[in-house]
Amino acid sequence: MARTKSQTRSSKKSPTLKSVNPQTGAALGEIVPIKPEEIRGIVDAARKVQPEWAAIAPQGRARHLREVRHTIYRNLDEIVETITQECGKPQSEALAHDVMPAVIGLEYMERMAPRWLRPDHPGRVVGSMIGLTSRVEHRPFGVVGCIAPWNYPFFLALMGVVPALLAGNTVVLKPSEVTPGVGERLREVLESLPAGVTTVIQGASEVGAALVDAPCDKVSFIGSPRTGRQIAEAAAKHLTPVVLELGGQDAAFVCDDADLDLAASGVLWAGFLNAGQACTAIERVYVVDSIADEFEGKLASKLARLRQDGHGDIGSMTTQAQLDTFKRHTADAIGRGAKLVAGGPDAGRKNDDGTLWAHPTVIEGRTEDMDIFREETFGPLLPIVRVQDENEAIQRINDEGFNLTASVWSRDRARAKRIASEVRSGSVTINCHAETAGAPWAPWGGVGQSGYGRLGGIYGIREFTVPTNVGTNGPLTMKRLFWFPYGEATTETLRAATETLSAPSLSDKLASARRFAGNVRKAFKEKL
Ligand code: NAD
Repeated sequence: MARTKSQTRSSKKSPTLKSVNPQTGAALGEIVPIKPEEIRGIVDAARKVQPEWAAIAPQGRARHLREVRHTIYRNLDEIVETITQECGKPQSEALAHDVMPAVIGLEYMERMAPRWLRPDHPGRVVGSMIGLTSRVEHRPFGVVGCIAPWNYPFFLALMGVVPALLAGNTVVLKPSEVTPGVGERLREVLESLPAGVTTVIQGASEVGAALVDAPCDKVSFIGSPRTGRQIAEAAAKHLTPVVLELGGQDAAFVCDDADLDLAASGVLWAGFLNAGQACTAIERVYVVDSIADEFEGKLASKLARLRQDGHGDIGSMTTQAQLDTFKRHTADAIGRGAKLVAGGPDAGRKNDDGTLWAHPTVIEGRTEDMDIFREETFGPLLPIVRVQDENEAIQRINDEGFNLTASVWSRDRARAKRIASEVRSGSVTINCHAETAGAPWAPWGGVGQSGYGRLGGIYGIREFTVPTNVGTNGPLTMKRLFWFPYGEATTETLRAATETLSAPSLSDKLASARRFAGNVRKAFKEKL
């Protein structure tokens, strides 16, 4: 990893963030983290700059974000190299799932944000509200604290930062301490924005906690359910709103009429992309019994063709903790009766010399007593569960874990849509898995344990705005019908309006409307 100006060598006293290549164990660099006590000042500074940033029209803000995109183009090689080395993932994955979706999202949001941020004009209201109109403005919160994970360290940081900025907020971004080199790349591309609009702070959990407690005006968090809960609790102290994008034990259902070749390829990819370290990675595959043998055979033969050689298809784990979880989950499941279908923890590359290789493993069986039933694995372990039919599959998808995403595999589109409509999940896809994460027009978020709030599309922009109603009394000189005094004509007009709106028959409505018309002028004349 190339060292940048803002990276500093550790002094003995400073605890440093170490950047290591998990495929080789080689040290890449070190970064001195910010002190938690400095963060309040940084948030205050971002708050001072915010009105000036918000005063720029959305089109102007989008032009500034375009500069960020162009800086990514200029720095592309260095960004991809840093992600590849620091995460231990293949270059194609760094491009396909980290840099490309960031660029796609930026380009789309730059174009669409000005339209999505236009004020809404909801319908005029009748009855006692006569004459009142509304203009709903989408105003920024102020300073947004964005906290990001390490598995897609570039894309997921920008997934929160970009809509927050376009909506007129300033941002303080804390990338993951596991990928500080990528944090520096993010700092470099965000430096193309006006000074103070975005500040990147590097550090571990205590720095994230200090950012939430600063307090920010809104927190955007992408990470584990455990940290998500801690952040929600800490934010509640200040009543700070939070968007939480958390993990999942995502399910796939392979129907008996699925194209098995397609399903095996898709499930293989979605189970093992990024060595299974994806919030969207499939962690449960429900397969109808009648086709399960054939499906497993295809999966095993496709898995055998994947390369895990440092340049090929499957990278290493990124952290020791995730490697340990993978090994613990695999041993526990096999110890409790799961059958090894393909791969296995001892197959493939060994992790000696501090390297973090984990071989993709397919097992059959997933029961309540297993660790995988209760916890997200976030590693290359793919359990298959045989079911009798779609009813059993739907019930088990919904009851046996939490889904950030889920997928249905069938040749019959109508059937797949019907099944998808019964699956409880943040997103559901048909004959592909989780790809909507990279679709900038689509809402992105979870249900239940996988989080709340939405990033992506109009939902993502509006997540970072406060819908503020500017209500106007239409006619300038008109007093309101329900102001003092409450004379006879006022009461009669209010009653007639209520009846007009609630009467079931047309004749009753017309009778009430006539009474309304006969009294309304008198009622206004009564007003003080
Ligand atoms: P993590 O929760 O350990 O850390 C995420 C970030 O939170 C890091 O920057 C960390 O420093 C910070 N943090 C930790 N404790 C904190 C605290 N108390 N206060 C404030 N900040 C704190 O998660 P991780 O290991 O980096 O990422 C893996 C998890 O993220 C998995 O569960 C995965 O499913 C989930 N994830 C979700 C999505 C999504 O879009 N829903 C995307 C990617 C990853």
